[in-house]
Amino acid sequence: MTLAELLPTYRRSLPEKLCTSVWPTSAEAMPSGDLVVSGVSLTELADRFGTPGYLLDVPTVRERCRAYRALDAEIAYAGKAFLCRRMARLIAEEGLSLDVCSAGELATALSAGFPAERILLHGNAKTHQELRAAARAGVGRVVVDSLAEIDRIPGPQDVLVRVTPGIDGRTHRAVATGVEDQKFGLSLAGGQAAVAVARVLARPELRLVGLHCHLGSQIAEVSGYEEAVRRLVAFLAEIAVRHGVTLPQLNLGGGHAVAYCPGDAAFDLPGFAARIPRVLAYECRKHGLVPPRLTLEPGRAIAARAGLTLYRVVTVKHSSTRTYVAVDGGFSDNPRPELYGSRYTARLVGRTSDAQKRSMSVVGRHCEAGDVLIPDAQLPSDIRAGDLLAVPCTGAYHHSMASTYNLVPRPPVLALEDGTTEVWIRRETEADLLHRDIA
Ligand SMILES: *Cc1c(COP(=O)(O)O)cnc(C)c1O
Repeated sequence: MTLAELLPTYRRSLPEKLCTSVWPTSAEAMPSGDLVVSGVSLTELADRFGTPGYLLDVPTVRERCRAYRALDAEIAYAGKAFLCRRMARLIAEEGLSLDVCSAGELATALSAGFPAERILLHGNAKTHQELRAAARAGVGRVVVDSLAEIDRIPGPQDVLVRVTPGIDGRTHRAVATGVEDQKFGLSLAGGQAAVAVARVLARPELRLVGLHCHLGSQIAEVSGYEEAVRRLVAFLAEIAVRHGVTLPQLNLGGGHAVAYCPGDAAFDLPGFAARIPRVLAYECRKHGLVPPRLTLEPGRAIAARAGLTLYRVVTVKHSSTRTYVAVDGGFSDNPRPELYGSRYTARLVGRTSDAQKRSMSVVGRHCEAGDVLIPDAQLPSDIRAGDLLAVPCTGAYHHSMASTYNLVPRPPVLALEDGTTEVWIRRETEADLLHRDIA
């Protein structure tokens, strides 16, 4: 018999365990019901900085960077997951390269002093201005995503050709980018990839350094990447035969899945580390090629679990069939439930409750019936206005996808490390909103 079974009062004071696959590494549940991340009390943080707020546990970001850096590959963080100057500096410190996909992301990275030669520029519709900005900055590589673009890239420039390998990474349609017939990349089967390679090689100011592919996002299995290696190495061999060039880089993109809810499958990084170099070596030997250097581009897998969103409950409404817990954020700080049907969990923070847990809907504050953050959250039935709720795994594609819908200002990003809080991005204000509005 455990102590908790012997003493009901003791059981009551035991905080419910945090699932380590969805919460930041440093998160601790306290007997008071508070949650402490990197030594910082979230209750105090909410009082000091207000809600809603995005919190980022810096040690978790570092740990994820280091897990990837242990692989024999160049790791380029996909900045679209979450980028600000402090994040760019952290990524640089951890020795990663950086993917950007717009002039804004590029300007942010450069302003942080991120080394230009370690930046890759992506985009299926790069504008003249963006290509010129990249050239001015001396960006290391531009990833060619269309035939028309090849003539527009200012030289001298190292480039990769983005290939659509025709592989279904088995993910949501909106983020499946490896399949044929879509807006990204140049088709391998359709021959456009071969045309692009020939065109790049025909421009002496461009140096073709490799191939790129990105299968999509939230992919848990390694097998799609193995198939990508097979197809791209076969294409490298074809290029070697036809043009007499050996390309030194193979970029397998990102898309490594994270767990948003306990029990979700996360990407099998150890499996990837064990299997991919062997497949690469085998395929290259088969075709008589020197293995190219691998580049990986994780975004979500670096930042997602480091982040959480802290909301305050504004009102609780009981209908005949459901309880609606309305918080002070929603669609504007997290559009993913509406975009992809993404699932999340929530946890009561700041007090304990013995009330029975029940399924209820955590809804946002926006003027859309679809603004439902979590349709079936398990929360104590005595949940009430003023309570704090923490939603884990919001470090990637949350702040970067946030909007000011309903003219609701965007939440701050607060970085936590060693018991201290740093404001990386301050809360947007109504004055900020009015600033762009020319009266
Ligand atoms: C979005 C994207 C990534 C990162 O995807 P994650 O799912 O965040 O790992 C990497 N490379 C390219 C080209 C992308 O478009």
